[in-house]
Amino acid sequence: MNSSDSADGRYDLIVVGGGSGGLAGAFRAAEYGARVALLEPGALGGTCVNVGCVPKKAMWLAADIAGKLRMAQSLGFGLHADPQRPCALDWPTFIVHRQRYIANIHDSYRRRLDASGIAVLPMRAQLVDANTVECENGARLSAARILLATGGRPLRPDIPGAGLGAVSDDFFQWCAAPARVAIVGAGYIAVELAGVLQALGSQVELFARGARLLDGFDAELTAQLAEDYRQNGVRLHFGHAVAALEGEPGRVRLRGADGSLSEAFDQVVFATGRRPNSAGLGLERIGVATDARGHIAVDELNATNVAGIDAVGDVTADPQLTPVAIAAARRLMDRVFGGRDGRLSRQDIPSVVFSHPPIGKVGLSEDEARARYGDERHGDNLHIYRAGFRPMLYALAESPQRSLFKLICVGQERRVVGIHLLGEAADEILQGFAVALKRGITLDDLRDTVAIHPTSAEEVVLMR
Ligand code: FAD
Ligand code: NDP
Repeated sequence: MNSSDSADGRYDLIVVGGGSGGLAGAFRAAEYGARVALLEPGALGGTCVNVGCVPKKAMWLAADIAGKLRMAQSLGFGLHADPQRPCALDWPTFIVHRQRYIANIHDSYRRRLDASGIAVLPMRAQLVDANTVECENGARLSAARILLATGGRPLRPDIPGAGLGAVSDDFFQWCAAPARVAIVGAGYIAVELAGVLQALGSQVELFARGARLLDGFDAELTAQLAEDYRQNGVRLHFGHAVAALEGEPGRVRLRGADGSLSEAFDQVVFATGRRPNSAGLGLERIGVATDARGHIAVDELNATNVAGIDAVGDVTADPQLTPVAIAAARRLMDRVFGGRDGRLSRQDIPSVVFSHPPIGKVGLSEDEARARYGDERHGDNLHIYRAGFRPMLYALAESPQRSLFKLICVGQERRVVGIHLLGEAADEILQGFAVALKRGITLDDLRDTVAIHPTSAEEVVLMR
C-alpha cells in the first residue's frame, strides 16, 4: 500500500481491478475528494495497456510501416536490392520500443495514483458483503461503495486439442512472425491479428464458421475488406467450423466439422471471443446477479442489483471497448461523488477495427437501417450514398487497394444514421464525424461543409 492508506481500513470507494474502467473510476472519485483503495494483482492498465489496444496498435503500426515500405520501393525509394522481398522487421528490437512505451504508461499511472492519494493493493479481492472486500492476504477493507471492474479474458472453444492453440495474450509474447499461422474466428481480434501477421511476413489462413468477416459492421465494406485481405495474401475459409486441433506444438492441424484436415501450422490462434472475470468474486455470496454468459448484470447507470455495488467495463455486457469502460466509470463517479447528473449513452458508439486497411463504423449499418426504416411503413425512406476511390498514395504506387465510404441517411431531410469507412486513415477520420452523427446532422450539413483537399476525409462531405 502507499502512504495514503486509510488507518482504519475504511474507504469511500473500493475499486476491484486496475484496468481501463477501474483506474478511470478511481481517479475520478479521488478528484472529488473520495478516499479510494484500488486492488490490482497484475500490471496496471489491465487488458488494454498490457495485452490489448496498446501493444496491438504498436504491432499494427509496425505492419503499416511494412506495407508503406513495400509501396515506397515501387515508388522509387531504393530500400532493398530485391523489390519482391518484404522489408523484414526485427521483432526483438521493435518489442523493446513497444514495451518501453508500455512501461512509461505504468510509471505514469503509478505517479498519478500516488499524487491522487489512492491506496493501491497489488492483489486479488473478493466480496464479503456489500461494503467489504477480502484481499488475497486475508486483510479486509470496507467502503460505502464498491466498483467491480475485473474485465475479461480470452475464451478457447471447448474442443479436443484446444490447448494446442494460442490466444491473443500469447501473441503478445511472440518474438518473431511464425511462418504459417491459422486464426480461428472472424471478429475484431481475428481480423486485426490476421492483417498484422500477414504484413509482417507470416502466411495467414483465417477460419470463420460464418459467411463473412466482422458481423456488426456494414456487410458491403466487410466484403471489400475480405477482398483486400485476399489481395494481401491472406487465405480466407468461410463456413468452416473447427471441431478439433490435432498434432503437436509447432505442427498443428485443424480438423473441420466436416471431417477435413488442414495443412500443419506453426501456430493456431483462437480469436473466438472473451469471457468476463466474474467467477471467484464472491458475487453469489451476496446475491449480485449475473447473466447467462457470466456478465455482471447492471442497469443503465451501471448499478448492480445490490445497493452500493456497481460494475463497469468488460465484466458487464457493455461493448468491450476501452473508451466505453472509461466513460461508464467516470460518469458513475460524477454522479456518486460529484453530485452531477450524467450517464453513458450506449447509442451510436463509434468503433474501429485496426485491419489493413482499417474499417470504422458509427450508427446503423445498411442492414440494420433497412430493418428499422426500410419497411413499407416508412416508404422509400432510406438513402444510401457511397464513395469508392483509391487514396492518392495507393494510386501513385499503382496498388489496387481502394477505399469505400458509405453514408446511411433516412427521411426527407436525409438525417445521417450511419457512417461506414473502409480505407487508409479511416481510423483517424471517423472520430469527428461520430460527433456530427450524434448531433443529428443531415446530408445537407455535410454538403455545406467545405472540403479539405486533397484528403480521403473530404469524400465524406462530397458524397452524392
Ligand atoms: P481490463 O482492462 O481487463 O481490466 C480488468 C483488471 O481487473 C485486470 O487488470 C485484472 O488483473 C483485474 N482483476 C481481475 N480479477 C480481479 C480480482 N478478483 N481482484 C482484483 N483485480 C482483478 N478496445 C478498444 O477500445 N480499442 C482497441 O483497439 C482494443 N483492442 C483490443 C485488442 C485486444 C487483443 C483485446 C483483447 C482487447 C482490445 N480492446 C480494445 C478491448 C479493451 O482492451 C477492453 O474493452 C478494456 O480493456 C476493458 O477494460 P476493463 O477495465 O473492463 O477490464
Ligand atoms: P468477437 O466477438 O469480435 O468475435 C468472436 C469471433 O469468434 C466471431 O467471429 C465468432 O463467430 C467466433 N467464434 C466464437 N466462438 C467460436 C467457436 N467456438 N468456433 C469458431 N469461431 C467462434 O471477439 P474477439 O475475441 O475478436 O474480441 C473480443 C472483443 O474485444 C471484441 O468484441 C471487441 O469489443 C474487443 N476488441 C476491440 C478492438 C478494437 O476496438 N479495435 C480490437 C480487439 C478486440 P460468430 O460470429 O459465428 O459467433
